[in-house]
Amino acid sequence: MITVESLYKDYGNIRALDGVSFEVEKGEIVGFLGPNGAGKTTTMQIITGFMDPTEGRVLIDDLDVLHHPIEIKRRIGYLPETTPLYDDLTVYDFLDFVASVRRLSNRRTAIKEASERCGITDVLGRSIGTLSKGYRQRVGLAQAIIHDPDILILDEPTSGLDPIQIGEIRELIKDLGREKTVILSTHILTEVEQTCGRVIVINRGRIVADSPIRELKTGLSQGLRISYRGPLSPEGFERFGRVEPLGEEDGSIRIRIVPPAEEDIREEVYRFCKGEDIVLLEFYREERSLESIFRELTDETSGDRKERA
Ligand code: ATP
Repeated sequence: MITVESLYKDYGNIRALDGVSFEVEKGEIVGFLGPNGAGKTTTMQIITGFMDPTEGRVLIDDLDVLHHPIEIKRRIGYLPETTPLYDDLTVYDFLDFVASVRRLSNRRTAIKEASERCGITDVLGRSIGTLSKGYRQRVGLAQAIIHDPDILILDEPTSGLDPIQIGEIRELIKDLGREKTVILSTHILTEVEQTCGRVIVINRGRIVADSPIRELKTGLSQGLRISYRGPLSPEGFERFGRVEPLGEEDGSIRIRIVPPAEEDIREEVYRFCKGEDIVLLEFYREERSLESIFRELTDETSGDRKERA
């Protein structure tokens, strides 16, 4: 389990993290979503022990990252935003180098297993500099899992890839997620929707949402908008959910009904109106995309942080 407790990080006068806390259970694939400059990389670097927080702490299975750096690096595989790959080395030599830095006892087996897992056995003899971006990213993933860690921290793993490569890397991550705990950062929503069970949204160094994707979508639930004419006040629709009056015009009343959870109340509302002699003039269900939810949560005013006063 990963426990992130009240992290603060200041770069000089810039507060990059402003009290970040969350927990990730074993076996989860969690999307860490946020606009540019939100604090994703900073959080990941602190979790992996590459950077110290200004305040707060991270525990991995009850071990404080700060005090057990070697044990933590054994348990975590990290794919940084820009993986330091050595273009002149062959893929095999690079993985062998990583395996030797990690002091793995059976390097050959480790390389074989990681490269099979990441689908790079065909290119083990090629220089890294000659590989496509998709393959370079696979090599990055192979170096992250070479020591068979329980936890994978992936910083924007599909950034800069074409749609086919993105699909392939996504499948690979999902496959790895079957037996490992994964946190992957991204600012691409479909990425999270297709790969992760849960999403944590960060904006301006603060967590603004943390929930299963399904709940996030229904929590900010779809409403049914109707406009009607007839002998019923907006409160008369409260049997279907929360009612928001939107105004009156030429004898017609406009309201928004927000049903509990994901219920589709269209048919019930239609039948009810028919029975009550209510004339429906407009009738439509709002479509809520993850995109609009994200915009709402992050108010799109992201970007680099201003200096603290
Ligand atoms: P991106 O998606 O663009 O990589 P991010 O969510 O990973 O963004 P961070 O890289 O963690 O965000 O940056 C958080 C904030 O801290 C930003 O305002 C950034 O400009 C600032 N920052 C990051 N690194 C440094 C640094 N070394 N010195 C000063 N400010 C920094």
